Amino acid sequence: MTSQTRGNLFILSAPSGAGKSSLIKALLEKHADIKVSVSHTTRSPRPGENNGEHYHFVSVDEFKALIDQGDFFEWAQVFENYYGTSKAAIESQLEQGIDVFLDIDWQGARQVRELMPSVKTVFILPPSQAELENRLNNRGQDSQEVIAGRMAEAKSESSHYDEFDYVLVNDDFDTALMQLEHIVMAARLELDAQKHRHQSLIAELLA
Ligand code: 5GP
Repeated sequence: MTSQTRGNLFILSAPSGAGKSSLIKALLEKHADIKVSVSHTTRSPRPGENNGEHYHFVSVDEFKALIDQGDFFEWAQVFENYYGTSKAAIESQLEQGIDVFLDIDWQGARQVRELMPSVKTVFILPPSQAELENRLNNRGQDSQEVIAGRMAEAKSESSHYDEFDYVLVNDDFDTALMQLEHIVMAARLELDAQKHRHQSLIAELLA
């Protein structure tokens, strides 16, 4: 019996409003063999967000206890809140051969790159500053003050785009989704994975 080929780990980072959540949602709907890791956060749920589905919502004390227990694969303070990916959220999925996406910021991406250099990292840029502002306004969830803050944070987040393996510009949604799918498909065809997946074929062909 051959052992399962491990899934690939991907990171998707973007400034708020670049369309990252919608892209991940569409990717998951199309591909049952791709999952997104559910992070822990100390921020409050937004309308429509469910505990355990969008995030594990925890208090600052609970979050700090998880850090002390060594439960996090990576964690960071983003804006005024803490966010982290638990080891439990990814390891068993990767072992089952499932491809896992982390929707995390550049600080988390740096940590994961150190721990798992094979990670594929993707950065999404909005098509323009004006469109980014438009999208943040259309959400209708945040105050003008929060939006202004997020525009400043978007600039700071975007300044890290060149630390990533792939850069997508989310102008046309379907094009960006297709490009993301291509990144996933190409990763599945990399030599190490294919060597493992097709070991009996290769043994037969080279016998
Ligand atoms: P939001 O509060 O809008 O859901 O997320 C704010 C930012 O935190 C986003 O850039 C998101 O990618 C990032 N984030 C969400 N979860 C994690 C995580 O587990 N780790 C890190 N480092 N960043 C995260």
